[in-house]
Amino acid sequence: MNEDVERDGRKQRRGMIPFEEAYRIVMESAVEMGAETVPLFEACGRVLARDIESDVDMPPFDKSAMDGYACRKEDLGAPLEIVETIPAGRMPAAAIGPGQCAKIMTGGVVPEGADCVVMIEHTELRGGKVVVTRNPGALNICHRAEDVKRGDIVLRTGVLISPSEIAVLAAVGRVEVPVSRRPVVGIAATGNEIVDPSAVPAAAEIRDSNRAQLFGQVEQAGCVPVDLGIVPDEPEAIAEVVERGEASADVLLFSGGVSMGEFDFVPRVLRERGFDLLFEEVAIKPGKPTVFGRKGGTFAFGLPGNPVSTFVIFELFVRPFCFALMGCGRAGLSISAELAETVRRKRPDRLAHVPVRLDGEGKARPVEYHGSAHIHAYTMADGFIALPIGTAEIRAGTSVRVMLTRRTCRGGGGCA
Ligand code: AMP
Ligand code: MG
Repeated sequence: MNEDVERDGRKQRRGMIPFEEAYRIVMESAVEMGAETVPLFEACGRVLARDIESDVDMPPFDKSAMDGYACRKEDLGAPLEIVETIPAGRMPAAAIGPGQCAKIMTGGVVPEGADCVVMIEHTELRGGKVVVTRNPGALNICHRAEDVKRGDIVLRTGVLISPSEIAVLAAVGRVEVPVSRRPVVGIAATGNEIVDPSAVPAAAEIRDSNRAQLFGQVEQAGCVPVDLGIVPDEPEAIAEVVERGEASADVLLFSGGVSMGEFDFVPRVLRERGFDLLFEEVAIKPGKPTVFGRKGGTFAFGLPGNPVSTFVIFELFVRPFCFALMGCGRAGLSISAELAETVRRKRPDRLAHVPVRLDGEGKARPVEYHGSAHIHAYTMADGFIALPIGTAEIRAGTSVRVMLTRRTCRGGGGCA
């Protein structure tokens, strides 16, 4: 099945391989792309390229968690003398002795001698002294280094930086953040029938939706998209785009032109330009004629032109590959959900993907879907579920894995 086959005199294609094998080939081909430094405020959505150590204890001192009075637990039964007021940002002047307390603000340094902070709401002032009116329960002190010790590794290489990681980087003073270089991804749409979205299509023409879609997917994957334009189904024109792409990008994405039609030249041109095609057909639906090749440090994907195929194959192969180039192994987020309606199909000969939305009860509900040209279906969907080879039906009520595809932020989305 995995032998080169002569389909006609002109084409020679490698046979169909299972998804798992294709995925393994793609992921094993990924080589990390090196690191660079970016300012802290620009690090969101990037992948951390070094382990980060803390240069401070967190908290840096015994810190009051409340506005209240710092005192000794054993003294709570009697009125307390106030010795000073400690705002956040100022060291206490004195230690707390028996029968004493200090008024303290949230974030203030707990003075020596005090072992609890009584919230202000649990006290009354009587004759200039503090009377505790309710058993305080909690001690309301965050102890020095209870969260992080100086020298601890707080973030590991390969982490996708989200606002939470930004906060930690800021807290340890990392204003210059070592991150993986972002792969540059060149995007071309092939097809004689394809016209720019700004054009009104003539008879037999269709607007190019894939290039803009892939642009967005590449951005969401934290990579740098480069537009290689629309290219007709002509080997010379495609070769020119491959050449341009090789000069400017780490990864080339071609939509269309990879099937068995008479004008599907992408695999042949890639091969002629020295790419080693590692597979050319995957037992998957949609997206069977997916092509993946490499030439030195440049990689190329040929994605079937139907918009849903392009979308799904990007999510299944290109997105994890791009993350792997950046040293991040967790590209997607998937969740378990109960299937709301039975899903059936006639020929269970490929791994199939079906769009679903998460309904109000958190169930995975299949959306109306007419096939791989029906990209509008994915505007109703939150993700897709897989039907393995040999599975013709998944019954309502079954727990299924939903691969989430709805993301709103650049670079984001999604560490599972
Ligand atoms: P292909 O993979 O080139 O055989 O194209 C398969 C189907 O997808 C055809 O109906 C094409 O017209 C359509 N298609 C190809 N490229 C695009 C594109 N960039 N945008 C929208 N539809 C496309
Ligand atoms: Mg085509």
